[in-house]
Amino acid sequence: MNVRLLLTLFACTIAVSAETMVLRNFTLIDGSGKAPAAASAMIVNDGRIQWVGPLASLKVPPGAQTVDLSGKFVMPGIINLHGHLGNVVELTQDANNFTRQNVEKQLKTYAEYGVTSVLSMGSDQPLVYDMRAEQRAGRSAIARIYTAGKGFTGINGYPTAVPGMKGVPYEVGTAAAVEAAMNELAPKKPDFVKIWVDDHLGKEKKIPTEISAAIIAAARKKGLRTCAHIFYYEDAKALAERGLYACAHSVRDREVDNALIQVMKKNGTWQLGTLVRELSTFAFAKRADFLDDPFFVKGVSPSIIATLGGEAYQKRIQGDKDLPQYPKFLAMAQKNFKKLFDAGIKVGFATDSGPPARFSGFFEHKEMELMAAAGFTPTQIITIFSKNSAEFLGASKDLGTLEAGHWADMVVLSRNPVSDIKNARTIESVYIAGNRVR
Ligand SMILES: [Zn+2]
Repeated sequence: MNVRLLLTLFACTIAVSAETMVLRNFTLIDGSGKAPAAASAMIVNDGRIQWVGPLASLKVPPGAQTVDLSGKFVMPGIINLHGHLGNVVELTQDANNFTRQNVEKQLKTYAEYGVTSVLSMGSDQPLVYDMRAEQRAGRSAIARIYTAGKGFTGINGYPTAVPGMKGVPYEVGTAAAVEAAMNELAPKKPDFVKIWVDDHLGKEKKIPTEISAAIIAAARKKGLRTCAHIFYYEDAKALAERGLYACAHSVRDREVDNALIQVMKKNGTWQLGTLVRELSTFAFAKRADFLDDPFFVKGVSPSIIATLGGEAYQKRIQGDKDLPQYPKFLAMAQKNFKKLFDAGIKVGFATDSGPPARFSGFFEHKEMELMAAAGFTPTQIITIFSKNSAEFLGASKDLGTLEAGHWADMVVLSRNPVSDIKNARTIESVYIAGNRVR
C-alpha cells in the first residue's frame, strides 16, 4: 500500500469518527452563577464542548450537524450527589435486584429528568464497578455512575434492619475489622467511602464515634474521602472534627450553630441537603399531591401509583409513632442547609433518591423546589447542582459548568429556570457527553 493511499484512508477514518454538533441561538445558563446569556451558540466535538459563546461569533465547522434552539434555554445537567442504585423493583428493596438491567433502567430514568450524574451512596454490588468502567471508557448515554461501593455501619447497625439492607454494608466493630474491610474496598477504587451514623430515633444501633473515626482515617490512608449519613448535630460535629469530607444529610435534631460552622470550615467539610428525603417520610401518609402530576406519573409504573394512593399503604405510614415529628425534621433540614450555605460552608446537590418511594429523577426536581422554599435563588440552585457538585466529585475539569473542555452534559428547556426553578421541569431534550438521551 502506498503512503498516499494510507494517508487518505487515515483521513477518512478521522472524518467518520469525529462527530461535530452545533447548537445555535439559545439562552445559556452556564452553571457558573453568571446571568443568562441570550443568543448563544455551542460547538460540541465528540461529546465535549469545544467552544461556547455569542451566536454572532460562531464559526460553523464543515460537516457539523446543526440544531436550532431558538427560544430555548440550555442549563447544565443535574448532578445528584446522594442516590442509591439498583436495589429497588417497584416498591421492594433487595440486593438481589441489583442487576445490570435494573441499574440501567434507573440511570435512564434519571437521564429522562435531566439528571446526568449520580453518586450512589454505599448500597452497591460489585457489578457497579464494571458498569462505571464501561461508561468511563466511552461516551455514556445514561446517567454517569459515581459510587461509594459498599458502605460501613456498626455490628447490626442502622440500616441493616431496614428491609432488604441486611448484608449490604460492611458491619464493623473493631479497628482491625475496619482495616480489613478497607483493604477489600479500596482496590476497587470507589469514588467515596460511606458510613451510616444513626440510631433511627433510638430504634436501632448506631456505630460508635471511634469506629467512624477509624473508618475516616483508614479511608484517608487510601486516598479516599468519607461521607456520612448523619441525623444528629453531635455526630456531625464529632465527625467533622475528625476530618469527615461530607455530611450526606442535613442535621435534623436541632439548629446548627457557630461551633459546627467553624469546624466544618476549618476542615473543608461539605454539606448535602437531601430535603426531599424528609418529605418522603410523611408525604404518603395521605394521597400525595404529586400522584396526579403528569411530570411524576410519566416516570413510574401505574401499579406504584395505585399502591401509594391506596388505603393500606397510607395506613401503614400513619401507624408510625414518629410520624408527627417528620415535617419538623424537614423544616429543620431546610433551615440548617440554608444557614450553612449562608455561612460559607460548601454545599452540594443531593436527594437520597432510589430507595422505595424515593423516585429517581422526579425527586431531584422536588429537591429544587424545597431548596427554593428554604430561600435559595434559582441561580444558586443551578450552580449548586452543576459547578459545586462537580467540585464535590473532584470532576471539575470534566463536568459542572458548560464551558470549553467539559463534557456536553446539559438540559434544553422551553422556559427559563432562572426566573422560576420549576421551569427546570420544561425539558425538551437532555444530552450526556453530547449524546441526545431524551
Ligand atoms: Zn442514602
